[in-house]
Amino acid sequence: MRKPIIAGNWKMYKTLSEAKDFALELKEKQVDSSKVDAVICAPALFLDQLVHVAKDSFISIAAQTMHEEKEGAFTGEVSAHQLQDLGVNYVVIGHSERRQYFNETDESVHKKVQAAFENKLTPIICVGETLEEREQNETVNIVSAQVMAALEGLSEENVENAIIAYEPIWAIGTGKTATADDANDVCQAIRETILDGFGEEVANSVRIQYGGSVKPENIEELLSNEHIDGALVGGASLQVDSFFKLLEAG
Ligand code: PGA
Repeated sequence: MRKPIIAGNWKMYKTLSEAKDFALELKEKQVDSSKVDAVICAPALFLDQLVHVAKDSFISIAAQTMHEEKEGAFTGEVSAHQLQDLGVNYVVIGHSERRQYFNETDESVHKKVQAAFENKLTPIICVGETLEEREQNETVNIVSAQVMAALEGLSEENVENAIIAYEPIWAIGTGKTATADDANDVCQAIRETILDGFGEEVANSVRIQYGGSVKPENIEELLSNEHIDGALVGGASLQVDSFFKLLEAG
């Protein structure tokens, strides 16, 4: 019922020529866009060229972050308005690496989500707990609060179209994956939070990804769960073959 969405987060990897070669090679693969949404989250530097390579293909292009203001004296930043103008479709907001190293907060995430929608970008909103929070049984509280802070005050239509990525911080880049059951439980709790805030129709439509050491070997089990509608993938998205396998599982 909900179309799976598989997004590759390249982080600060690849050169422009490697990025273009990847997209050109991926484009030749047989991927049924009615069955799975395929997204590449690339460094800002490559977005313009990747949008051109991906044109008329099943691939959509995402930015990895953005600034909430339309324009202004914000050296080094890129706005939602500028991304939209390039033809970018999605933007990752509040990735744990941004929250941890670049001072992103629930408040700035909320502003960015609003700016994304105002500029017709689909936000991929990242939430997740630390290992310490998990050990203290705080996962659902933390994650639900992050989700509500990000979505508060948005229209039902916008929330329905948002993508939520549940990424336990201890599982990112560590090789440790949450068990499929644990991941599904948290994704279900996120859906219930959205149900409380925005109603059943919105909760049933919103897509929730799992992220954190997803690879071809574990994606099928993760996606077989009711509340997991896709994956946000770092390491295993850097090679065409492995990213393609993830798409095939979608
Ligand atoms: P990983 O990264 O797949 O390498 O764990 C996931 C992410 O940071 O989105």
